[in-house]
Amino acid sequence: MPPELTENPLEVSDRILATGEIIESFNRVTNKVSELDEGISIVESFSHVISFDTGDELVCFDSSGAMTGTAVVEALRSWSEKPVHSMVYTHGHVDHTGGSGAFAADADSRGHEAPQVVAHEGVRHRLDRYELTNGWNNAINRRQFGGVAPSENLGIGGMGARFLPEDALWPTVEYTASHELAVGDHTFELFHDRGETDDHTWAWVPQHKALCVGDFVTWVFPNCGNPQKVQRFPAEWAVALRKMMAYDAEWLFGAHGLPVRGAVNVNRILEDLALALEKLVGDTLEMMNANESLDSILHTVALPPEMIKPWMIPVYDEPEFVVRNIWRQYGGWWDLNPANLKPAPESAVAEELSALIGGSSKLVERAQELAAVGDLKLACHLIEIAAKADPSGQAMHEARAAIYQQRRDTELSLMSKGIFAAAANESAKELESKEEG
Ligand SMILES: [Zn+2]
Repeated sequence: MPPELTENPLEVSDRILATGEIIESFNRVTNKVSELDEGISIVESFSHVISFDTGDELVCFDSSGAMTGTAVVEALRSWSEKPVHSMVYTHGHVDHTGGSGAFAADADSRGHEAPQVVAHEGVRHRLDRYELTNGWNNAINRRQFGGVAPSENLGIGGMGARFLPEDALWPTVEYTASHELAVGDHTFELFHDRGETDDHTWAWVPQHKALCVGDFVTWVFPNCGNPQKVQRFPAEWAVALRKMMAYDAEWLFGAHGLPVRGAVNVNRILEDLALALEKLVGDTLEMMNANESLDSILHTVALPPEMIKPWMIPVYDEPEFVVRNIWRQYGGWWDLNPANLKPAPESAVAEELSALIGGSSKLVERAQELAAVGDLKLACHLIEIAAKADPSGQAMHEARAAIYQQRRDTELSLMSKGIFAAAANESAKELESKEEG
């Protein structure tokens, strides 16, 4: 990231779209406000806040996360002091809803009414689920975001001790398929489609020929395969992108990444994303219909590099994970390996294998050889078998920590980095506790 960011995010997106080169960071968690057009502003943050001035009141899309809510409201208030009439949640993820408490507190301090919160009816179910799975969600987020340095900030976050903050606003206006929100001299045509989530809203704002699309466009590869999260919807995501294209919009506002201006640019981005998702879905389904195994599909289906455009580099989620999600969506959890249907404990298999070859130290040595020549996938398999066969081996943990650190350093996506870093840390901690004990 260069020390000095270009102030206006539109200039950055114009340049990247014109040159096809990433010359500057495109996910900027600055908590700064920029006016994009008369009456439209963005606060760039953990989920941006896009605001429309409708005359006497504002309509905001998303509230950013709990840790950035206050800074975001402060920035917004330097652009306009009008009451926030409505807050639209593009979906229920905490980096979009967690900052809403700061909006409520701001309204209170100004003597304004609290904003009404407009959302798809699924948001409520998601927030209920977060209450059910608070521990799980905190654990997976520690893994997911623990593998990248804060300086590599991707602007897609939402951590905190409690997964959903206590003061978050719950939806007050809920809809099923579509909803027309009229405020002042503006109308916001809200539509539900599934994509990253099952509770997603995108909006057409005719007064500005603008699309407000939440996480349907994030300037990284669609977050549609996330290994630790519930089902996502690649085919439906592509359908939504094509519906958006039909408007020939002049503006495209996603909740992460850069705002986009100009109908040609807008539709180019929408179509590039749709084409990538359609290819993954089509190729995966074709192989599933031919009764191919998950293993064979995972090692066959891929996107040709020229389909991965600069505004969809897999630095967050990955096409390979999307393939797994397609398998899960249309098939079942079984991978077609009969031994995996009702498996023995992994440790029993590992003990058997290591006894056969004369001890788990052989596995550790071979894993290190493989890592030394860069075959990290195989090295990881072997070191895991060694770990399952002899969970307290000192040499195993030393090798395992090093192999996963090496793996983390070669991966591109935040999700892979996070999971491999967590494995490296796990073995490093084992070694530390041995030294202490
Ligand atoms: Zn998001």
